[in-house]
Amino acid sequence: MGRSVLVTGGNRGIGLAIARSFAQAGDSVAVTHRGSGAPDGLFGVRCDVTSSEDVDAAFTAVEEHQGPVEVLVSNAGITRDGLLMRMSEDAFTDVVDANLTAAYRVAKRASAKMVRARSGRMVFVSSVVGLLGSAGQVNYAASKSGLVGLARSIARELGGRGITANVVAPGFVATDMTAELPEKRQQEILGQVPLGRLAEADEIASVVRFLASEQAGYITGAVVPVDGGLGMGH
Ligand code: NDP
Repeated sequence: MGRSVLVTGGNRGIGLAIARSFAQAGDSVAVTHRGSGAPDGLFGVRCDVTSSEDVDAAFTAVEEHQGPVEVLVSNAGITRDGLLMRMSEDAFTDVVDANLTAAYRVAKRASAKMVRARSGRMVFVSSVVGLLGSAGQVNYAASKSGLVGLARSIARELGGRGITANVVAPGFVATDMTAELPEKRQQEILGQVPLGRLAEADEIASVVRFLASEQAGYITGAVVPVDGGLGMGH
């Protein structure tokens, strides 16, 4: 019945929308959480993606519950904004650890079983700011552009084994992450979006699901913007 899907950070926000979208299509979907528990109808595994031990244990639990992960969505992410001159080294390395090194951890853990199966789909949730840059987000933007190099290298390493690795680069999406932004900043951002509105999390989910589908079998190493036109030309 469907495929075995794992979505990191699938307990809320964009990750939850992605997880629900796969579940609605009939896949078996597991999500990671850090103590909130699993949303209704989804299999939850407790996992902090900054810990290799947690990641390994989470995969083992998912494998026992629904079989080896066939679709990996690396979505968990954090921000810790601040201007470069005032940004602590911890603020930089913590964000890179949660957003980029974590993607390496989960991709590595998923890859052995995907190689054996000679098929698999990996989708990494980046951001438009990974390509555009963003004042006050040196750490976040660096982590998000790093995902592009990571995914494209995986695409080259594992393409011969039927595994695809792609990046989705959302613009501004209505979630807890953007709700934290001051109203004035939200209005400034909206002024730069040709479509003139924030994205709904479901609009990111549908693209992730497409990249994980059979129909997207010849797409790998791609960076797909879902940003209302905000990042056009980059
Ligand atoms: P939210 O802040 O709403 O949710 C973040 C998710 O990541 C939560 O599930 C959170 O888990 C999880 N998470 C964070 N750190 C860790 C960790 N160390 N271990 C495990 N899970 C962790 O964010 P969004 O839904 O808005 O964002 C999801 C992804 O989309 C992120 O990668 C973000 O960078 C990206 N994105 C978001 C945009 C937006 O406008 N919202 C735009 C572009 C990209 P917990 O509940 O335990 O905190």
